[in-house]
Amino acid sequence: MALISANKYTLPLFFVLLCCLSACNTTTQSKQKLQTVAPHATDSTNDVATTNKKPVDYKPTATTPKPQEPQKPQTPMPTAANPASKLPAGHSVELPVKLPAKKLIVKPANQVITRLCSELSAKLSSVSMAECSALQLTHSAFTIQHRSLAYKDYPANSGQPSIGKILVIGGIHGDEFSSVSVIVKWMKILNQQPSNLFDWRFIPSANPDGLLQIKSQRQNYNGVDLNRNFPTADWQNHALNHWQNVTHRNPRRRPGPRPASEPETKWLVDQINTFAPEVIITLHAPYHLVDYDGPPSAPDNLGGLYLRRLGVFPGSLGNYAGNDLNKPVVTLELKSAGIMPLKQEIDQMWYDLVIWLQTQLSP
Ligand SMILES: [Zn+2]
Repeated sequence: MALISANKYTLPLFFVLLCCLSACNTTTQSKQKLQTVAPHATDSTNDVATTNKKPVDYKPTATTPKPQEPQKPQTPMPTAANPASKLPAGHSVELPVKLPAKKLIVKPANQVITRLCSELSAKLSSVSMAECSALQLTHSAFTIQHRSLAYKDYPANSGQPSIGKILVIGGIHGDEFSSVSVIVKWMKILNQQPSNLFDWRFIPSANPDGLLQIKSQRQNYNGVDLNRNFPTADWQNHALNHWQNVTHRNPRRRPGPRPASEPETKWLVDQINTFAPEVIITLHAPYHLVDYDGPPSAPDNLGGLYLRRLGVFPGSLGNYAGNDLNKPVVTLELKSAGIMPLKQEIDQMWYDLVIWLQTQLSP
């Protein structure tokens, strides 16, 4: 009887205890997820990670997108979305959450853009939903996780012939927050500018899957560094060799299984081919300089960023467009990946850029 009596009361107590433990565990997991948004970015050349002490260009807490429901382990993952299986032992890809690619559901383009703006404004402190919506981005293609690869065109003023086509690309590396936000600010300037001499195409976020993971990552969803995946003439002979022997298989520099293997890279190559820009501007962080590839002559400085050439790499955009296609590629390496430049500096970089483009392209 004593044993039965003990079971009668200890069983409910056991379940109460189990629930408490479960709740505690959930709370701990939530805290861990909230802490994962701290950015860390590396430069285009070295493999040294830097942590920003005052990350203010992203939203770390309440507005972080809710993590999706955990998936069943037996859910088959597409091979392309499981790059870890291809890596040598001891190496891992910086994917904070392993989620299978979403099923392809055809949605109207405006819904796709609304989702992108919603996620961007939840991630970036400097970009509001209203600000992103006002950009009126054009949906063009999908990423692996079915996010929009979107652009916005600003044609030269009517009645005035354009003096050149300029392609501006931000966010190729998903953990370089400011490279997206500064482009949004430039687009706002252009919206309000009374005269415009160029045909612009802006791509504010070229790697939304990398940016919009719970913990943002440099690479795309497949764990590929898009800036090593462009189909450069030297890719076949050098990209994998460079990755293995120079970066020592750093997962943050992984060039992918073949040139332009990734949907984002394919789409960017397509943008370069179809839009046919005379100059390409691309934003990165946090090395605080201007890099330049292609025919002369480079700008000495853009705002507080001064020219310091980093060289080219197999599969990089600068190598592909600057060397192989002979198109000038201006790379702005902002000072910080997680801290926005002051408005005055953002305006000055834009002003210097437009002046430099005019000197290069005016007939
Ligand atoms: Zn970068």
